[in-house]
Amino acid sequence: MQFENTLSFARQLDATDPLKNFRNKFIIPEVNSRQQVYFLGNSLGLQPKSVNDYIQRIMQDWANLGVESFFHAPEPWLNYHDHLIRPLSKIVGALPHEVVVMNQLTVNLHLMLVSFYRPSAKRYKIICEAKAFPSDQYTFETHVKHHRLDPAHAIIEVNPRKGEHTLRTEDILSVIQQHSGSAALVLLSGINYYTGQLFDMGAITKAAQSAGVVVGFDLAHAAGNVDLQLHEWGVDFACWCSYKYLNSGPGAIGGVFIHEKNHDKDLPRFAGWWGYDKATRFKMEKGFTAMPGAEGWQLSTPALFLYAAHRASLEIFEEAGWTNIRAKQKVLTDYLWFLLEEVNTTSSKKIIEFITPQHFAERGCQVSMLMLERGKEIYEGLMKQGIIVDWREPNVIRLAPVPLYNSFEEVWRFADVLKQLIA
Ligand SMILES: *Cc1c(COP(=O)(O)O)cnc(C)c1O
Repeated sequence: MQFENTLSFARQLDATDPLKNFRNKFIIPEVNSRQQVYFLGNSLGLQPKSVNDYIQRIMQDWANLGVESFFHAPEPWLNYHDHLIRPLSKIVGALPHEVVVMNQLTVNLHLMLVSFYRPSAKRYKIICEAKAFPSDQYTFETHVKHHRLDPAHAIIEVNPRKGEHTLRTEDILSVIQQHSGSAALVLLSGINYYTGQLFDMGAITKAAQSAGVVVGFDLAHAAGNVDLQLHEWGVDFACWCSYKYLNSGPGAIGGVFIHEKNHDKDLPRFAGWWGYDKATRFKMEKGFTAMPGAEGWQLSTPALFLYAAHRASLEIFEEAGWTNIRAKQKVLTDYLWFLLEEVNTTSSKKIIEFITPQHFAERGCQVSMLMLERGKEIYEGLMKQGIIVDWREPNVIRLAPVPLYNSFEEVWRFADVLKQLIA
């Protein structure tokens, strides 16, 4: 498509956007009754208007039936999880019985490492990306110490080459190769939270597994953002949070994928009564018998309010259709990149260095801009004009227009304000 840098062109793209009405399903933040340009769906997705209704239904069940709601609510709570699994398994490319919704991301990472990081004298290393999200780093460090190993030897970080910001797939694969006899686990993010780089999860999985190494992904920035084929790739496990691109609210309930090939291995796990075989759970007997599938990793009574918020959001994904979401995402973000390149080429000197790969196959919605000068001032200028982006020390502005509720006009306005601030 031949893009143009004009407001009327942006509005024309909005007019022909098949998803244009989905914006009305969300509450757009306002200041002095002026809608903000909200570009932080990568941090906390906006609230679907329908969330309130879904939560109210749980409130009503609770009021009307108390604990009987588990069996006798109009939609029995005992089966509420099924409403989440169907749409969610499509989003992550999994079979329904490979997905479970529970806890939060960091907790789930820990639980997965209990099952999937089983160091031996020979194989004990964890291979990860350098500068992973802090929670991930602390998870690796504390599991390694829990096994009385030394993080300095057991954690292998893949670094960008000198002068580069992102990782080359060949470098990731060669680190895996190099440690193929001593690695126990490869665990990377699907998309790095800082650079926005999308990793080649299929190739990484293949390389890890041909070296006999277990492989997992943290999909915090990937779920609901990019195409995932967890089952087909043969990933052993994955975890994600649901408050970023999945729009399910602050502290939303997390999701876990466990490949079916791992279901019958009787893997060690930390268990709770909600992971007990559903048919006999309420006999409350001694001795843990896991439910078949990923649900057998559940610990606690489900958080129905969090389920309800998650469901409201997942139904919007269902209604929009993943193919349509991705198609709009491509045009929306390609347009953003087109405008940003113009900002750089029309200013007297280069102010922005993009650290996110530009090619659509290597990123999702997010663009991370390394500000070569006046970064904080430009960030504050954007915020003052109602364009909500974020600042990451020491000098990066991150933003992510999302296809479900952001418009082409917003992208154009952002680039226009940015250009004025730089000039
Ligand atoms: C957002 C994010 C987290 C946050 O974990 P919570 O337990 O939900 O607070 C963890 N890891 C990555 C990679 C993230 O992007």
